[in-house]
Amino acid sequence: MTAVVEAEDHIAERPSWDCRSCRKSWPCEPARERLRGEMDRTQLAVYMWANLEEACGDIPQGPASELFERFIRWTH
Ligand SMILES: [Zn+2]
Repeated sequence: MTAVVEAEDHIAERPSWDCRSCRKSWPCEPARERLRGEMDRTQLAVYMWANLEEACGDIPQGPASELFERFIRWTH
């Protein structure tokens, strides 16, 4: 068995919160697709709220509503 490097994981890079795979703002579309597949809506909302809190510490610029749109809106 060979360990597979999961280059398609679309994980957030810290502290920029850009996707490691496609360099877009995380969560990028593939990341959203993956997370939707892994969790139900409640789990996803909790998970993304936790990420939002961390991101607020890393990227304080801009209004909080922008980050809310980016992290939370799509989970509903
Ligand atoms: Zn990506």
